[in-house]
Amino acid sequence: MIDDKAFFKLVLDTTPDQVVVINSNGDIVYINRSWQNFGEQNDCACCDMWEQQNYLAECEKAAKKGDSFGLKAFNGIKSVILGANDDFYLEYPCHSEDEKRWFMMRVVSFSHTDKAYYAISHQNITERKLAEEQVQKLAAIDGLTDIANRGFFDTFLEQEWNRCQRLGMPLSLAIIDIDDFKLLNDTYGHQQGDTCLKRLAKVLNEFTKRPGDLCARFGGEEFVLVYGNTNSDQALLVLNDILEKLKQLNIENKHSLPSRTLTVSVGLTTITPSSDFTCAYLIKEADDLLYKAKDKGKDALCVSDLALI
Ligand code: GH3
Ligand code: MG
Ligand code: MG
Repeated sequence: MIDDKAFFKLVLDTTPDQVVVINSNGDIVYINRSWQNFGEQNDCACCDMWEQQNYLAECEKAAKKGDSFGLKAFNGIKSVILGANDDFYLEYPCHSEDEKRWFMMRVVSFSHTDKAYYAISHQNITERKLAEEQVQKLAAIDGLTDIANRGFFDTFLEQEWNRCQRLGMPLSLAIIDIDDFKLLNDTYGHQQGDTCLKRLAKVLNEFTKRPGDLCARFGGEEFVLVYGNTNSDQALLVLNDILEKLKQLNIENKHSLPSRTLTVSVGLTTITPSSDFTCAYLIKEADDLLYKAKDKGKDALCVSDLALI
C-alpha cells in the first residue's frame, strides 16, 4: 500500500480531468495540473493566483453577465455545501473561437481534519456531445433530399407559431406539390424522379435563410415552406421568385399537360397566430388552397390572407 503524498499528487496531476477543491466559503484550496493547464490556455480567472480566488464568486460573476450555466453551477455547488444535495452534476458548453467543446462538472463533498471540502471535477465530453448532435441531426433530416423532415417541420411550426403569437407577428406557410410526378416517374424512372426531388429541394432550401424560416419535405413529392414574421405580400414575392427559379430548371416531364416540363402547384396562407386558431388549421388551409390550385389546372398558386380577417 503506497502512503506517499508526492505519489497521490502525481496521480491527481496525471488525470486528464480538471479538479479544483474549495472550502465551504467557496475559496479555492487546491487545483490539479489539468486545471492549471486548461486555465492558462483559456485565460480563466480562477487559475490566475488561484490561492486568492473564490470559485463561487466567479460563478456568480458569470451568472450576472447572463451566463445561465454560471447560475446553474453556483446554485448546484451551494446546494451541496448547504447539504441539500449529496452531489451535483452539470453538462455545459464551453466553446472556443475555433472549436465546439462541452464539459461535465461534478461536485462531491468530503471532510478532512473536521473541515468540509468540495471536489469539483470537470471532464471533457465533447466527443459524446458531437455524436449526440449528429444523431439529432440525422433524426431531423430527410434521407433523400437532405432538408428537414416532417417530424422536424411539426416541431418547428409549433415553435414558430408560439413565437409569432407572443410577438403578434404574421406567419406564412406554403405547401408545394409537384404536378404529375407519377407521370415523370413512369416516363423517366424512379431514379430520375429522385434526382428531381433533390434538385427541387435544393432550390426551395435556398429561399429559407432566416432563423424563422424552414424548408421541409412534407412527404412524397410535397414540400412545405414556413416563414415566420412574414406577411402575405412578402411571402408571395418570395414564392414568385421560387417559381421563376423552378421554371429555369427546365426539367422535362413530357406527358404533363400544363407545360411538358416539371411544374408545381402551391397553396400559400398567412395568419397571425392566436388562441382562436391552431397550427393544424393553418396546414389545412394551405392544403385546401393547394387543391384549389390543382383544380384550376395545376401549375398554379392560390393564396389566402387570414391575417386580414
Ligand atoms: P398531381 O399533379 O395531382 O399531384 O399528381 P401526381 O402524379 O404528382 O400525384 P400522385 O399522388 O398521383 O403521385 C405522387 C407520386 O410521387 C407517386 C409516388 O410514387 C411518387 N413519389 C413519392 N415519393 C417518391 C420518392 O421518394 N421518389 C420518387 N421517385 N417518387 C416518389
Ligand atoms: Mg401529392
Ligand atoms: Mg403531385
